[in-house]
Amino acid sequence: MAAFNTLEARVVCSATGAHVIDVRLQYRYAATQQYHYVIGDRISWGINDVGEPTAQRVLVAGLPDADCPSCGGALEADHAILIVGDVLVGVGGLWDPRWLAEGEQFVAID
Ligand SMILES: [Zn+2]
Repeated sequence: MAAFNTLEARVVCSATGAHVIDVRLQYRYAATQQYHYVIGDRISWGINDVGEPTAQRVLVAGLPDADCPSCGGALEADHAILIVGDVLVGVGGLWDPRWLAEGEQFVAID
């Protein structure tokens, strides 16, 4: 099974849209070795690398690893994690599958 990392993030519940929750997003980008990050952390490279080390701004698909802690709803939607200069700067709204190139889990903006 492919390794992934997790990012602690505060997002809107994708099951109801009615509350803000803290979740762990599973994603695969840069070094993937079950690293656990919070917003503001700098990602590393060099182990099971995924992506483009030269990219400046990247959106990465992150999937919540559990149901909503508030309402118990299933959180099946990917969220868009923004990485700028190898720093995890934030999580935007839901990931749009149309951004996804075939077989990829990230989009390099520039
Ligand atoms: Zn909820």
